Amino acid sequence: MLDQAAIDALRATPVAPAHNLIDGNPCGASNGQTMDVISPIDGSVLTTMPRSTAADAERAIDAARRAFDDGRWSDMAPAARKKIMFKWAELIEQNAASLAVLGVRNNGTEISMALKAEPLGAAQTIRYYAEALDKVYGEIAPTDGNILGMIHKAPAGVVGAIIPWNFPLMIGAWKLGPALAAGCTVVVKPPETASLTLIRIAELALEAGLPAGVLNVVTGEGAVVGAAIAESMHVDVLTFTGSGATGRRLMEASARSNMKRVYLELGGKSPNIVFADAPDLRKAAKVSAAGIFRNSGQVCIAGTRLLVERSIQDEFTAELVKAADAMKVGDPLDLGSVAGAVNSARQLEQNLAFVAEARAAGRPVHGGAQLLTETGGFYMAPAIVSDVLPTDRLFREEVFGPVLAITPFDTDEEALALANATEFGLASAVWTSNLSRAHHMIAKLQAGVVHVNTYGGADGTVPLGGVKQSGNGHDKSLHAMDKFFDLKTAWIAL
Ligand code: NAD
Repeated sequence: MLDQAAIDALRATPVAPAHNLIDGNPCGASNGQTMDVISPIDGSVLTTMPRSTAADAERAIDAARRAFDDGRWSDMAPAARKKIMFKWAELIEQNAASLAVLGVRNNGTEISMALKAEPLGAAQTIRYYAEALDKVYGEIAPTDGNILGMIHKAPAGVVGAIIPWNFPLMIGAWKLGPALAAGCTVVVKPPETASLTLIRIAELALEAGLPAGVLNVVTGEGAVVGAAIAESMHVDVLTFTGSGATGRRLMEASARSNMKRVYLELGGKSPNIVFADAPDLRKAAKVSAAGIFRNSGQVCIAGTRLLVERSIQDEFTAELVKAADAMKVGDPLDLGSVAGAVNSARQLEQNLAFVAEARAAGRPVHGGAQLLTETGGFYMAPAIVSDVLPTDRLFREEVFGPVLAITPFDTDEEALALANATEFGLASAVWTSNLSRAHHMIAKLQAGVVHVNTYGGADGTVPLGGVKQSGNGHDKSLHAMDKFFDLKTAWIAL
């Protein structure tokens, strides 16, 4: 669908200055300020976007509030709402090529992954929730015969959606799809380093017939725009994907303001456990390498801690090195690149610091060098660090970059203890031919997702969410809609 010539034509297109979308109107920041949008491909200024103020966020919240309170969306016939969401998904698909290339110029993800995960993934998600919107409804309770107990699922109101930069459309759609299907209105805060495509799909939503004010987008700094949304007395639900530090701030802001519900999808330090009886070690190594190194490791569920049975440590590490070395890191708009650019200079610096620290501590390190400096962009080779100890920072802290930590184990109990020795609990994996061992691991691993002999199932029909400090509440699947409903009980005397 997208060949190299088409990509090259799209990448040559100038990008117009971006704007907010408030109450259906494109607008700049009220103080006229903008911020540069830097392309990680070559470090150049791609365009500008509004550096919005707290007052701009409040204007967007007021618009969403009015749109919710007058029922222009929640009271619309479900069939009509569904039609608009279907049309929206269709428009996103029709614009998939330009959205994918724009997104890559903005955030650096390799185009082969971005096309599938971003516009096409978002369209699929929007369509899934459009299909669901007239199939998820209330209940009648089995009460005494003289009284009727009805349980309504009422749309929760105004939703604030704060989105990260690694997959802004895919993750954005995980929030927008169920929130809009539930009948809520939304204010989106896109990430500083990947705002452009979210603005574009909000415009497409208007084109599809979504009433003005139902979906608003405000760009700018998290600490200003995001914080204003979190502190607002008029936002009912906050849905967030990003770092734990920001998640904590959002909970505090909720407590200080109107105690809005706060749903968090946070980071991970996901264990990928390889037993000697894995069905196919070469395949396990290849899939594991993709599970940590695609999108330059900027994947929340990335299997960043590889726990390997000691008897196969050397053999398996060699396979991993082979798989990593075969991955082409380079221009993310080259269809041949398996990993593109790191999202920002700051993120690259942080990744390289982890590698340097491991090397200084005497851990064997393969790869991990900065690449392609002559381009002005932000690139690094996958890093594989062996003999990582549970006390190492690399074992405990999320890098959010292409840096794999390998730690050997001897027994199932040790593997489990190492796997669970983290404050995070997002994803995990087990590679084994032993069915009992796999089931035992599924039961005992403290994680929202357990893979067995695979890594990274992308299907939208299952929930994605973490336990422990990886978050609360789930994106994806019908369960995601629960976050955007209030349960309202009605008693009717008969
Ligand atoms: P971040 O927390 O810095 O930013 C995420 C979003 O929050 C951005 O839109 C940002 O503008 C906003 N923000 C920042 N400070 C804020 C504040 N004080 N108040 C309100 N909003 C604020 O995280 P990031 O660096 O953009 O994303 C990387 C992190 O996200 C990683 O830790 C990663 O694991 C996590 N992540 C998790 C998932 C998941 O599904 N669990 C998915 C992707 C990324």
